[in-house]
Order: sequence, then structure tokens, then C-alpha cells
Amino acid sequence: MSAKTREARADVEAATVEVHGVHKWYGTHRVLDGIDLTVRPGEVTVVLGPSGSGKSTLLRIINHLEKPEIGYVSVNGELIGVKRQGERLKELSERAILVQRGRIGFVFQNFNLFPHLTVLDNVAAAPIATGRLGRSEAQELARELLGRVGLADKTGAYPRQLSGGQQQRVAIARAIALRPGVILFDEPTSALDPELVGEVLAVIKDLATSGTTLVIVTHEIGFAREVADRVVFIDGGRIVEQGPPAEVLGTPRHERTRDFLSKVL
Ligand code: ADP
Ligand code: MG
Repeated sequence: MSAKTREARADVEAATVEVHGVHKWYGTHRVLDGIDLTVRPGEVTVVLGPSGSGKSTLLRIINHLEKPEIGYVSVNGELIGVKRQGERLKELSERAILVQRGRIGFVFQNFNLFPHLTVLDNVAAAPIATGRLGRSEAQELARELLGRVGLADKTGAYPRQLSGGQQQRVAIARAIALRPGVILFDEPTSALDPELVGEVLAVIKDLATSGTTLVIVTHEIGFAREVADRVVFIDGGRIVEQGPPAEVLGTPRHERTRDFLSKVL
């Protein structure tokens, strides 16, 4: 193994994610209404909430795919987004945003794999594009990661030849390949047939125990109970309550949380 490969595989420092006073609106529609959230290194946070409550928008702001109107996000103390400084808004350069985004993995509901690339190349692409690894080293890493998600025999397949559960496991391997300090999951099992949900949750659970910081939007309450360090319930763009899963899921304090749980359980 080359020094470069070793470096690319070395354990990553799990990131701290801080969301400070984030407001987001589209036109006159207020989507996030003052979100404050801290996710500590290695912590697994599950975000729950009804459809339209702002969960995806929150993840997109953390990954700088959207900008908040007020407030900011930091990953390991480095700012992403806008921060009010007196009356001036400070923004990161596009370059700084790209560097930041390279430290954040994102797994989407619909996998978003590159259809024209093999499974191996889907996973190897980002380390090559960012100059982190040469082609053969990136492919070596991709083989190892695909083995870790149980797809060692699918390296030469194309995404369309795989089941949804397999595609999502490729997407997770692709996210890990960049050695992110945090991985964000936006309803990673919502597009899957029920019998394929378990294999994807098992891979996420494996990641959770490896010490990566994870923020997971999901309606899988059993998974949240088992894997989350903290559950955050969002409704109407606000955090209604948060805490250990046993509290939020077992003895929710707010009517809106109870109402939501009664519908998804
Ligand atoms: P969730 O993921 O909790 O279902 P979202 O964050 O996707 O919620 O959306 C929150 C609200 O913001 C919804 O009412 C949605 O219609 C609205 N919204 C999301 N993205 C946009 C956009 N690009 N333009 C206008 N409205 C949007
Ligand atoms: Mg969503």
C-alpha cells in the first residue's frame, strides 16, 4: 500500500456540526424558523418531522447547497454560509465552499449515482477528481469500501443493474471514499422496497459504530431508537424537542411529537 493510499484511508477526525440561528425562507414562505443545533464528534443524530417541516432544507444548508437568510453553520469551527457581523454579511468564497463540501458526505433518497460509470468508478471518482488519490489507488480504496458494504462482487456492474438497496449501498461507499468528517443522510431508505430497507440500515449502523458523525433524516423509528445518540423532532421549521431516543420516542413531551409518532409508528 502506498503512503498516499494509507493517508487517504487514515481515520478521519469526526466533525462537530453547529447550526446557529438559521432562518430560511422561499419568497414569503418561512421554511426554517430559527434552528440551533450542535452535533458533537462521532454523535449520531436522527432528525424526524412531518413532510414539509424543513428537514431536507436543513441538510442542504449544512452542505451549502442552500444559503440561510439569517444565521450560519460551522463544521469543525469553519464557517459555512453567512454570518451576521454587525450589519454586514460575510460569505465564503466558492472555493472555500467546495473545500468544505469535500469534508461532508451526502447520501440522497434517490441514490444519485452516475449512471454511465461502473459501481467501482462511482466510488473512485471523487478521490480522483479532488486529486486525493491516483486512479489505481482510488480503485483499490473503492474495492475495499465496496467490500465493506457487501458489494465486492458488483464492482463491474452499472447502477441500473442493481437493486435500490444495492445502489444505496454504493452511494454510501461513495460518500465514505472522501473521508468526510460528517455524513448527512436524507431519507436514505424512503425510495426502497420494504424488503431492501434492512440491508441499507445495517450499513449505516456499521458506520455509526465506527465513530463518524452522522446526521440522518429518516422515518425509521426502530432504527432511531437503536442507533441514535440523539433524536431531534422538527415541525414548522422549528425544533420542537430533542434528546436521547428513549425520551423523545418513549416519553415525548410535546403534543406535536406524540401526534407525529402515532402516525409513523
Ligand atoms: P422536508 O424535507 O421536511 O419534507 P423540505 O425542507 O423539503 O421539507 O421543504 C420544506 C418546505 O420548503 C416545503 O413547504 C417545501 O415545499 C418548501 N421548499 C423546499 N425547497 C423549496 C424551493 N427550492 N423553493 C420553494 N419552496 C421550497
Ligand atoms: Mg425531505
